[in-house]
Amino acid sequence: MAAIDKVTVLGTGVLGSQIAFQAAYFGYDVTAYDISDEIMEQATERFAGLAAVYQADDVVAATPEKARAALARITLTSNLADAVADADLVIEAVPESLEIKRDMYTKLAQLAPAKTIFATNSSTLLPSDLKDFTGRPDRFLALHYANHVWRHNTAEIMGTVDTDPTVYAAVVAFATGSGLVPIELKKEKAGYLLNSLLVPFLTAGAGLLLGGYADAETVDKTWRIATGAPAGPFQIYDVVGLTTAYNIAAAQTDPQSQQWAAYLKENYIDQGKLGVATGEGFYTY
Ligand code: NAD
Repeated sequence: MAAIDKVTVLGTGVLGSQIAFQAAYFGYDVTAYDISDEIMEQATERFAGLAAVYQADDVVAATPEKARAALARITLTSNLADAVADADLVIEAVPESLEIKRDMYTKLAQLAPAKTIFATNSSTLLPSDLKDFTGRPDRFLALHYANHVWRHNTAEIMGTVDTDPTVYAAVVAFATGSGLVPIELKKEKAGYLLNSLLVPFLTAGAGLLLGGYADAETVDKTWRIATGAPAGPFQIYDVVGLTTAYNIAAAQTDPQSQQWAAYLKENYIDQGKLGVATGEGFYTY
């Protein structure tokens, strides 16, 4: 299998922009695709913002030259055919909608050359939900980044039963080459490894608060002191953002999730307390 050199990222939103910049920062030729010229202007601003973040963050501590070189390696386009014409790897980070993603893979199947590997960054869909639309199930898998990729640099890699092991290995090598820690899943799992651990943990914290067993500070303090972990569940809720926590809970039908959604809405969302991003959530920042 030839090495991956040319990478195309579909979607320049929250994650797509970070995925593209991270790959460019580590020397890959990157093409970033989005749907309109207006959104590409926003993308230019996002990339400039990331160049500043990479210089300011002590994990990467980029020099101005390295940040400028990364920016110079990114080409923006709103033409999908041009975007994928010579790609070794396409990383799809379009909105989390089965319909939008299936439509995207149906188009890609026609436009991309046979050599191109497709990877989805979907957080909640399994690659099996999409593989039949790719026209190349053997060259398709999930490559899942975490938000703030330069700092939280895991890359969860998850194939389907159809993924060619040499394709999987090439994507593991790409992850390492782009400054990430490859996390290899042996088979498909909704939520990958991280959310399979994190979601039940956060749900348990919510259950303790809703049940009136302890307040948020006490739950967090217990976890920090007894395990040595830096943060308890409510500190993590504030970082993730309470809108995301609310949306996830509101989409569930079980009584605790419904109660949790109502609690978050009444006490936090309706008062503009959305977590770290707004300066207040369970804690004040
Ligand atoms: P986002 O809404 O910020 O960005 C999506 C981008 O895709 C937008 O710029 C949009 O214009 C573009 N796009 C490209 N093709 C499109 C099309 N055909 N139709 C509509 N829009 C199109 O979303 P995001 O948060 O970056 O999430 C993207 C993917 O990454 C999702 O699958 C999500 O599950 C995953 N993800 C997100 C996070 C996160 O913290 N936000 C973390 C890990 C994975």
